[in-house]
Amino acid sequence: LALKSNPEAITLVSLTDTVVFGGQDIVMIGGPCAVESLAQMEAVANGLSLAPVQALRGGAFKPRTSPHSFQGLGLEGLKILAEVKRRYGIPVVTEVMSTEQIEAVATYADMLQVGSRNMQNFELLKALGHVNKPILLKRGLAATLEEFIGAAEYILSHGNTQVVLCERGIRSFDNYTRNVLDLGAVVALKQLTCLPVIVDPSHAAGRRELIAPLAKAAIAAGADGLIIECHPQPEKSVSDAAQALSLEEMVSLVHSLQPIAQAI
Ligand code: PEP
Ligand code: MN
Repeated sequence: LALKSNPEAITLVSLTDTVVFGGQDIVMIGGPCAVESLAQMEAVANGLSLAPVQALRGGAFKPRTSPHSFQGLGLEGLKILAEVKRRYGIPVVTEVMSTEQIEAVATYADMLQVGSRNMQNFELLKALGHVNKPILLKRGLAATLEEFIGAAEYILSHGNTQVVLCERGIRSFDNYTRNVLDLGAVVALKQLTCLPVIVDPSHAAGRRELIAPLAKAAIAAGADGLIIECHPQPEKSVSDAAQALSLEEMVSLVHSLQPIAQAI
């Protein structure tokens, strides 16, 4: 199901009637690592309304390395996302970490994200196969492409064909960058599978000053879109502050991507 039956086979994944992954236009998703407050998410929606950004991101359930770190606002965070969606008419993407959370996340969000740490949570993947919402499946921290495609296959084979793959960097030996952005994987996944492929340069780089060039390279490599972390006050971000762009930087980056997207 995930693999291409012929070289032209493409699965279009619709977030709304007009926002479609895998079609002519790149899809830009922007927003903070975590939903922190309604005021924060409104500032994000306002700031990003100046750019062609088609969806907002923000974690309500956060997979943190330490249990002592902020774990997300949970249900309250989902309600904030839904309120911003209502006020600004923009679809929202957020992570689901367990089967128990699926019902709530699917009630409030337009697209359900499976984070890297859950890429091989097979019970979660199977359950998402029964959900009638698109899924953003992020590559595991050290997943091979075979494992990544297999994970997508779990969702597809259980009935949900609306899956978008996301390359977000893989573990390697150098910790200057948080992870290593694997653009070769983007090209290979586009050749091997019929699924749209987007790139998350934020978690790949871990440093804001690397995001714009990596985003441009990803679009040049044929990515169908990007998911990028940005925040009204990046340095005050409760999580992943070092990689957050300001809203102004995000707007200018998105504008600079359009000529590249049109050229390929
Ligand atoms: C995220 O996008 O919020 C996130 C936690 O990313 P990843 O699962 O890729 O680490
Ligand atoms: Mn993050």
